[in-house]
Amino acid sequence: MSLKEKIFSEITEKGPITVERYMSLCLYEKHIGYYSSSNPIGESGDFITSPEISQVFGELLGLWFVALWRSIDLRSRFNLVELGPGTGTLMADILRVTGKMSEFSQQASVYLIETSKRLRLTQKKRLKNFPINWVCSLQHLPNQPTFTIANEFLDALPTRQFIRINNKWKERHIDLGPDGNLFFVNLPSSNQRELQFLYGHLPENQILEICDHAKNIVADLSDHIKLNGGVALFIDYGSYGGFGDTLQAITKHSFTDPLNNPGNSDLTTHVNFEAISDTAKSKGLRTTELISQRDFLSALGIRDRSRALSRNMSKSEQRKHFRAVARLIDQNSMGELFKVLAITSRNANPLPVFE
Ligand code: SAH
Repeated sequence: MSLKEKIFSEITEKGPITVERYMSLCLYEKHIGYYSSSNPIGESGDFITSPEISQVFGELLGLWFVALWRSIDLRSRFNLVELGPGTGTLMADILRVTGKMSEFSQQASVYLIETSKRLRLTQKKRLKNFPINWVCSLQHLPNQPTFTIANEFLDALPTRQFIRINNKWKERHIDLGPDGNLFFVNLPSSNQRELQFLYGHLPENQILEICDHAKNIVADLSDHIKLNGGVALFIDYGSYGGFGDTLQAITKHSFTDPLNNPGNSDLTTHVNFEAISDTAKSKGLRTTELISQRDFLSALGIRDRSRALSRNMSKSEQRKHFRAVARLIDQNSMGELFKVLAITSRNANPLPVFE
């Protein structure tokens, strides 16, 4: 059964599906979902992420982890974890740089948490020269300090959408029309009281996005960090709070209709970092302020690092290289839209760059 047939039959049998269910089916349905059946990331795929744009991104993150590790003077083993590692490029760049610090590498146990079997195979190939462990959830990590990186991970998690109209909360669903086209429909929510209590102060007729998957993962990670120590670094596009419909679909590097051609485009929503921060705080962790990718990478010396890298390049390689670096930090490219947030235990030392 194709993904389209699966979605159509589910709606025909059970009625309209939530946006969250639609995203889950499109992205993660076994064998037929987007991440199980295609190679989405990179120039030849549908979308490109920072580590795929330039190796400088992963190298600077590696340096940040080394600075962090030095600042806490860690003398025991620790977990170096990546959530949703895509093609494995980011971890390869991090490990190449941190490999120069033999003590760091000797103490680090590297764990990748990835749901897509297909991407796990890509990661295995990409990282064949490094000792890596794959686990399916945070519960499988050993109890030791844990440094986590998640780049463009939270935006890929299925999200619910709500809207308050005439003082009644509705949840946005997807239905199938007689013409065979999918369309959005708002249906009364069964959580009126809870939604009103938590979000009653927000304006009417505006879409509110709630990502329970992200909250649950951040809650589990927070419990782990509280128990064992460590830090998690989230890099993604989004903002602190806010509302509005941010569901978007990308195919071959261009926006497309999220309801058109399900399973053949990447579906995401913007990350609400306030919800991430609140979840971590409710678990007793400390969260940093939200800073732009531009400020984060600039503080880590992206300009010097990219100049140093360019020395052995030809003129045309240099042009390509500097264009890629500019894409990561320019205000009208990824520099401002992408944000960085870290969470750590309340009594941890100040975090490099942030504090
Ligand atoms: N971080 C990568 C790829 C981002 S795409 C990069 O920067 O290039 C999102 C990734 O998250 C994919 O690898 C996808 O399969 C994975 N993913 C989505 N949901 C997940 C979950 N619940 N647990 C682990 N991995 C997940």
